[in-house]
Amino acid sequence: MELETKAIHEGWKPGNGEPRQLPIYESTTFKYDSSEEMGMLFDLEKDGYFYSRLQNPTNDAVAAKLTSMEGGYAGMLTSSGQAANFFAIFNICEAGGHVVASGNIYGGSYNLLSVTMKKMGVDVTFINQDASVEEINAAFKENTKCMFGETLSNPTMEVLDIEKFASIAHAHGVPLIVDNTFATPANCQPIKWGADIVTHSTTKYLDGHASGVGGAIIDSGNFDWMSHAEKFPGLTTPDDSYHGITYAKRFGKAAYITKATAQLMRDLGSIPSPFNSYLLNIGIESLPARMRVHCENALKVATYLKNHPKVAWIHYPGLEDDKYHEAAKKYMPHGTCGVMCFGLKGDKKEAVTFMDHLQLINIVTHVADAKTCILHPASHTHRQMTDEQLKEAGVDPTLIRLSIGLENPEDLIKDIEEALKY
Ligand SMILES: *Cc1c(COP(=O)(O)O)cnc(C)c1O
Repeated sequence: MELETKAIHEGWKPGNGEPRQLPIYESTTFKYDSSEEMGMLFDLEKDGYFYSRLQNPTNDAVAAKLTSMEGGYAGMLTSSGQAANFFAIFNICEAGGHVVASGNIYGGSYNLLSVTMKKMGVDVTFINQDASVEEINAAFKENTKCMFGETLSNPTMEVLDIEKFASIAHAHGVPLIVDNTFATPANCQPIKWGADIVTHSTTKYLDGHASGVGGAIIDSGNFDWMSHAEKFPGLTTPDDSYHGITYAKRFGKAAYITKATAQLMRDLGSIPSPFNSYLLNIGIESLPARMRVHCENALKVATYLKNHPKVAWIHYPGLEDDKYHEAAKKYMPHGTCGVMCFGLKGDKKEAVTFMDHLQLINIVTHVADAKTCILHPASHTHRQMTDEQLKEAGVDPTLIRLSIGLENPEDLIKDIEEALKY
């Protein structure tokens, strides 16, 4: 099946006389006829549902659809993108471990690694993702457990050289985790380029309508844990909390997702509500069609902005003279996404004046929505920082993040044109 078809038909596959639309299994628990059968589920001897904190049929159907669209082997949903990235890393990197991550990643992921996971004993080295292989190699340590980057960085719109990252990670015997939130599987499937594990904030394009916060982890099943057994004892030595099961031996290609479900979901509990997964499933059905329009509209708006005398700079990899245009053509030949960032001539004040005069475009924290969204990190998400601190954090005080929706692009351009008059 091609991607558009998978988006519609993968996941929930009704039998004769069953509901065509994915049912919402709004049930915390599942009933069994014998105590023996229930016991086997707890021992992971048998597949089946017993408690929705671990698994739920609605959530699993949507995870299966996304896994198929990403070309993965096994997948799971989480209650947010933050939970997805945390689980994806923590599943193989505990206290004493180290992560090599691109420094250009989403602020939430940057904090997760540099503040919260640091407190948990996980060390991180941030690298410039465009640095040479030698420079990136130098960031690796004896205790490095994984490499992390974003297909398209939020909000700077840099394109990750996934093949380069994958070959560096594999040379060091660790998997590459790629956050594919902005590109979505409609425009890029990182597993095809060598990524081992893919994560998503499904809150963005996958949902597509700003309705539910959610996340997903998809494992390719390609990383051979047993051949790096000493690095990943959580997968390659017995788990006492499951009667001595060794995940990599017992579950093979499903080991990573089984461990993340059986241990992390069990103990940390970040499951999405089945209702949110139902909404997510409806969103995914139209994802490939929506992404085409997001990209078309964004290219029109980006071209307009680029030629406007008040615009100092713009980053949109769809533009032919963008630094990442060639990389985008390689990894995302059908387009990147609807998000771009730009700066107006002047300073913070010009950005605020422009935004305050927009009528149609919404000032919101959100991105990657059917509705066009705009945000000025220096006066919103990063407002506690001085200009100096902003620069240190790599946030240009003039940076405006614009996420182009599904409206008619001429209406968006008119709105921007009016607001730029002030
Ligand atoms: C939004 C976002 C996240 C965090 O996801 P939430 O669903 O908000 O928790 C992670 N990575 C990227 C690239 C994002 O854009």
